[in-house]
Amino acid sequence: MVLVCPVCGERGIGKVGIGQYYCKDCCIEFECKNDTIKIYNVQDDGTLIAIPEDSTLKDNVEVAQ
Ligand SMILES: [Zn+2]
Repeated sequence: MVLVCPVCGERGIGKVGIGQYYCKDCCIEFECKNDTIKIYNVQDDGTLIAIPEDSTLKDNVEVAQ
């Protein structure tokens, strides 16, 4: 299984913890657990904001709020 960013499909993701990954292109973190992916928007201060999964996998997802 090749892990890619669930938002942009980037393969150059970094691992930040057990089951946790970071996409520098999107500035998001995501967590893979039991076939479920949780996506977090990383704020400037490091706070993680959960992004609903159904808002991903669209073209040019806008995560700005
Ligand atoms: Zn990405």
